[in-house]
Amino acid sequence: TVYNLGSINIDNVYRVPHLPGPGETLASSDVTKGLGGKGANMSVAVQRAGSPCVHIGSVGEDGDWALDRLRASGVDTDHVHISQPTGHAIINVDDAGENAIVLYPGANRHVSMGSVQAALAEAKPGELFVTQNETNGQVEAAQLAKSKGLKVIYAAAPFSAEAVEAILPVTDMLVLNEVEAQQLTEALGKSLTELGLKDVIVTLGAKGCRWISGTESREFPAQKVTPVDTTGAGDTFTGYLIAGLDQGMSVDAAIELAGKAGAVMVTRLGAADVIPTKAEVDTAFPA
Ligand code: ADP
Repeated sequence: TVYNLGSINIDNVYRVPHLPGPGETLASSDVTKGLGGKGANMSVAVQRAGSPCVHIGSVGEDGDWALDRLRASGVDTDHVHISQPTGHAIINVDDAGENAIVLYPGANRHVSMGSVQAALAEAKPGELFVTQNETNGQVEAAQLAKSKGLKVIYAAAPFSAEAVEAILPVTDMLVLNEVEAQQLTEALGKSLTELGLKDVIVTLGAKGCRWISGTESREFPAQKVTPVDTTGAGDTFTGYLIAGLDQGMSVDAAIELAGKAGAVMVTRLGAADVIPTKAEVDTAFPA
């Protein structure tokens, strides 16, 4: 089982002729509603990769739609509690594909430690705990998970130097993209190999990823695809990576699988709703 303390967002995407300026009222020709948030994306990815996922988080009274979407993928939402209005994004996309986004974190910043404790009360040593930087309570939750013998995976997104520094002492595996890796090495003034972590995975978009384990570093090329929308590629990659580990794969086998899932994801428009299943990944890239 994978335990994920993470954000749950509703993404409202509005198509507009141009991005609205100050004082302007603009009619939108089309709106779509999707499940998003790095946390929800990862839970759906873990579950579609074939591993059970317990999501720990918070939504508002308006959150039933999002919870239904998570449950439809099989995610356990028993430890998602009601607090403030559900986190959501208002995403304007113009005819040229340019976007402007308002993000309201809402309930995501009001996760209770009680929910974390209740979820982890059922956890067994050797199981996996993952979190990102879109909720509150990551450090305390990671410390609790670590004390119970779980393996802690931290996806350092959105990047915050203080957040990484605080959680690093209890982190077993760090997953970050190329930009975040650069921000981290600049903020800490040391290289990724000097962090003293057993596993650091840096995703490099169309260039694949790099796995740094101790003083060793290994590159994995990406699958060749024509990208349509890179939203959620990193979350899909991380969710599949974790599911692979949960299923007993070696780190390199889990990275291979994650790279294939990330590649399928960039060929699809949308976030959590379009994360591929394991069967779809296997069909796209047979072993
Ligand atoms: P993020 O979305 O967090 O910035 P990346 O863009 O690095 O993350 O993508 C995560 C992973 O998804 C990559 O390591 C790669 O395996 C896969 N991926 C992303 N973009 C592409 C692409 N254009 N072609 C093939 N694989 C891709």
